[in-house]
Amino acid sequence: AKDEGRHRVAFFMPALNTAVQTRLALENELRQALQQQEFEVFYQPRLDVATGRLMGAEALVRWRHPERGLVDPGTFIPACEDSGQISKLGAWVLEQAARQQLHWRQRGWALTVSVNLSPCQFADPALLQTVQAIVLETGCDPQDLELEITESVLLGHDEHTVQVLNALRDMGFGISIDDFGTGYSNLAYLRHYPITVLKIDRSFVDEHSQARPITGLIVTLSRALGLRVVAEGVETVEQLDWLRTQGCDEFQGFLVSPPLSVTAFEGLLKACD
Ligand code: C2E
Ligand code: CA
Ligand code: CA
Ligand code: CA
Repeated sequence: AKDEGRHRVAFFMPALNTAVQTRLALENELRQALQQQEFEVFYQPRLDVATGRLMGAEALVRWRHPERGLVDPGTFIPACEDSGQISKLGAWVLEQAARQQLHWRQRGWALTVSVNLSPCQFADPALLQTVQAIVLETGCDPQDLELEITESVLLGHDEHTVQVLNALRDMGFGISIDDFGTGYSNLAYLRHYPITVLKIDRSFVDEHSQARPITGLIVTLSRALGLRVVAEGVETVEQLDWLRTQGCDEFQGFLVSPPLSVTAFEGLLKACD
């Protein structure tokens, strides 16, 4: 019987192996990448819809892989979340963004820099401490920074999340809801949270989207709640013109620029001067 068992294991192991081993290998690689500082923060410009003025930038992490080149976050953030590494990576991105914001401010470019927070970071009891330490260490002004959270963070309605968000807001951080409209939004819940910005998902911007007519309502709602509205994924002049008629405040998207390395972003800043 013992032999049979061994045989069975040998029979199904290879299939199991590939998926699990690939994932484990990736998680280990990510651990090393953090140690070896292979990550890099890119910045996508955010502009005022009415004036075209550069208002800020969203920090978006990249992995500069020694063999695979520049890797997009969609392929490694989930593995970071599953393996408990996102708190560390997220803190690193926030610290980079805080330093970058200060550096730009000192050079006369006053920009609001936004940083993505994973829902997993809210599950980490050390989140507030970590953020406080970054503020102290960098000397940044949280009022110049914005934290982007997803609707899923708010859906639990739990007291812990409310307290953490209130504490972050009290420190001065702006709080934005990312990909707004793609989750199961109960619009009424928004007023229970210290939100300052709604970032509407690019599916609301697309002229071929069924969701487009809702954008006007989102802007109206935001006005009523005193929130700013930022449109994401703006790719055409038609979309920008339409957003202007809707009263949207700011936008970002390939129409102006993809996320850029710091060097490339500073090239853009100098061109704007
Ligand atoms: P997101 O926060 O919704 O970021 C916007 C994504 O849309 C970015 O992809 C950006 O490059 C892309 N994008 C910008 N403009 C356009 C456009 O005009 N058209 C289209 N089609 N796409 C546009 P990216 O940089 O690959 O990031 C993907 C996602 O990875 C982000 O979505 C965010 O959820 C996550 N992410 C990125 N950096 C971080 C990070 O530091 N921490 C965490 N937790 N998540 C991050
Ligand atoms: Ca975002
Ligand atoms: Ca988004
Ligand atoms: Ca997203």
